[in-house]
Amino acid sequence: MHITLKETAAKMLEAENLVITTHVNPDGDALGSSLALYHMLVRLGKNVEVLVDDDIPESFGFLPDIEAIQKPEKESYPADYLIMLDVSKDRIGQVLNKCQAPIINIDHHRTNDGEADFLYLDAEKAATAEIIYQLAQELTVTPDSAVALCIYTGLSTDTGNFRFSNTSAFTLRAAADMVEAGAQPHVVSEALEKRSFKEVLDRAKAMETIEMAMEGRVAGIFIDNVLYETLDTTEGFIDGVRIIDGVDVAVLMKEVEPGKCRVSMRSKGVDVSVIATEFGGGGHVRAAGCTIEEPLVEAKTKLLEVISRHI
Ligand code: 5GP
Ligand code: MN
Repeated sequence: MHITLKETAAKMLEAENLVITTHVNPDGDALGSSLALYHMLVRLGKNVEVLVDDDIPESFGFLPDIEAIQKPEKESYPADYLIMLDVSKDRIGQVLNKCQAPIINIDHHRTNDGEADFLYLDAEKAATAEIIYQLAQELTVTPDSAVALCIYTGLSTDTGNFRFSNTSAFTLRAAADMVEAGAQPHVVSEALEKRSFKEVLDRAKAMETIEMAMEGRVAGIFIDNVLYETLDTTEGFIDGVRIIDGVDVAVLMKEVEPGKCRVSMRSKGVDVSVIATEFGGGGHVRAAGCTIEEPLVEAKTKLLEVISRHI
């Protein structure tokens, strides 16, 4: 059932025990939004746990209280509500079984499945962090520097540092407010851009796999499992293909286990969320992803076939 942001805030204010969760493979918006809300609810005197069923990338170590995030290792997590941010039920892993509380879902993905008990969905927003920024007002909490840094991180990462087409005047005003409240933009960009020498060399190796298709309108990096096992990260690789002149759809496909490929897509025009949805994934018009349970070559053929129907 859809609820307003005011109703969302009211439910949180009346609760005592809350669990916050977000998607596996967490990014800056997922972690920034979760920790910003965590800080605000703790300040309001709530008992709050943050559970993420995945490893937290070390690069997010600069986020205040990142160590508060736990894996769902206990048997169960009783709570008044499970607050699910930046995701639908399908990508929170074990948290779904272990926290049986009614779900309050806050999201900006147009592909949200709408299955939460209470849903606040605003697909016009560039980041869930934009909604958390609005929610702060409804909770009557003034963001301190910790909340500001977390929200700023979400705004920045989901907009490609305020460069993608989802960047709006609202995004920039929210970012300005967060900087005024104490977020330092360079702290975020330096932490997230930093790469080890090995990672720079890895990126060069991955770039050698670039293939063009559909007369240069599609470009992809295709990493088989052998190469994948030698890489420390693939973060940001897709930006290297997205910028090729004439490319509409950029793809990063990586065989994370033999016979299982993770796919990221970015586009300048084509709705890649539709393509991802055909494979059981989702996302936004210009940034989406999915998993294809096939070896790399087969997965590539299937993906390119679907892209060719949409381009
Ligand atoms: P990324 O390529 O950065 O992993 O994801 C791009 C966007 O697509 C993000 O908004 C992300 O949440 C969404 N996305 C990526 N993979 C999946 C997936 O497997 N399922 C769904 N529903 N969304 C995904
Ligand atoms: Mn997001």
